Amino acid sequence: MSAPDLKSAACGSSAAEPLRQRGQHEVFCGLTSIIWLHRKMQDAFFLIVGSRTCAHLMQSAAGVMIFAEPRFGTAIIDERDLAGMADMHEELDRVVDRLLSRRPDIRMLVLVGSCPSEVIKLDLDRAAQRLNKVHAPDRRVLSYSGSGIETTFTQGEDNFLTALVRDMPQTETAPTSLLVVGAMSDIAEDQFERIFRSLGLEDFAFLPARRSTEIPSIGPDTRYILAQPYLGTTASELERRGAQRIEAPMPLGEEGTTAWLRAIADTFGVETERFDAITGPGRERAKKAVAHYRNALEGKRIFLFPDSQLEPSIARFLHRETGADIVEIGTPFLHRRHTQPEFDLLPDTVAVSEGQDVDMQIERCRAADPDLIICGMGLGNPFEAEGRSTKWSIELVFSPIHGYEQAGDLAELFARPLLRRAALEVAV
Ligand code: SF4
Repeated sequence: MSAPDLKSAACGSSAAEPLRQRGQHEVFCGLTSIIWLHRKMQDAFFLIVGSRTCAHLMQSAAGVMIFAEPRFGTAIIDERDLAGMADMHEELDRVVDRLLSRRPDIRMLVLVGSCPSEVIKLDLDRAAQRLNKVHAPDRRVLSYSGSGIETTFTQGEDNFLTALVRDMPQTETAPTSLLVVGAMSDIAEDQFERIFRSLGLEDFAFLPARRSTEIPSIGPDTRYILAQPYLGTTASELERRGAQRIEAPMPLGEEGTTAWLRAIADTFGVETERFDAITGPGRERAKKAVAHYRNALEGKRIFLFPDSQLEPSIARFLHRETGADIVEIGTPFLHRRHTQPEFDLLPDTVAVSEGQDVDMQIERCRAADPDLIICGMGLGNPFEAEGRSTKWSIELVFSPIHGYEQAGDLAELFARPLLRRAALEVAV
């Protein structure tokens, strides 16, 4: 058998016909999403039902909070539990009772499944229903899976939001309202809130809300728009509950933010003059801020490994607004409906791969010899050791990147490693 032509394996692929690979992949599990979700929902507690490995991952990834009351923790499944010698549901009830009696500030308890809880088939949905009977209405108990079995870290948020949507009250009578779906930084959310009000929109809400008591109702007059592209299951659940989707690219960069806001404005009948007057200054600021980094990024060849599921949106931003060349867009899953507005703005010829066979992709990347590699942390350091510039894609979910005022910061995230390497080369 002849060796595969690694250099060209993704060439000829496209959004319409991506290279699909189902080999070994390198991604964080869905538990990682708790790191940004627990900061977002300020009265929720995320109780991981998992192993010591899960607890170590969370402690090292999120840092141990010494002075604050933590808002996530791990109920450890030990050998007795794994051997079936203990009643897991009874043990879980005891842990939850202890936690809730010590922490009256918790209004929503989220049971988060892990690989071990899935392997022993611990039914956390049933546990949540049982605990709700005891603790509702003062506290709500939800569950979702953050397991790393065949998932990637942003799916943790997708699973959590799906659980929230299932829990949203139904309404048949509310006026047409807007639901913005996907965790953004508070600062970006506040900026969008001001823009929505200036456009004359009053009836809108964000999911996840900052407090569990602010979760809105849902019905046939709900229009939802995604602020994160990786929310496939959440979107399906919203539509099952009657909400209708507003289609747009993600609000990243000046162009993405304008197209996203315009899609909302068109849905709610905002006049063009008003839209232009309200968004004009922000657009100009965003363009100017991004232009500052154009020299560093223009013409640079960028390879995106599958990690955050934000890859098509980031590739669109880098190509359209900074003039970068995209070598390959790798994405763990290709949500065709959600990413199509991004691919509509990219050349048809851009190579796209879905899933991963990590060794083959590494060889493909080495052969292409890009200027910048956007990848997970596990690949970043080895690539750096080879003298290549990298950017960890997990930073994209921890940094404020949405909206006009963050467009410059988004460009800077990718320019910084290139500028640093250029400075090192001058220095040596
Ligand atoms: S959920 Fe699975 S992949 Fe994630 S830390 Fe626990 S054991 Fe590891």
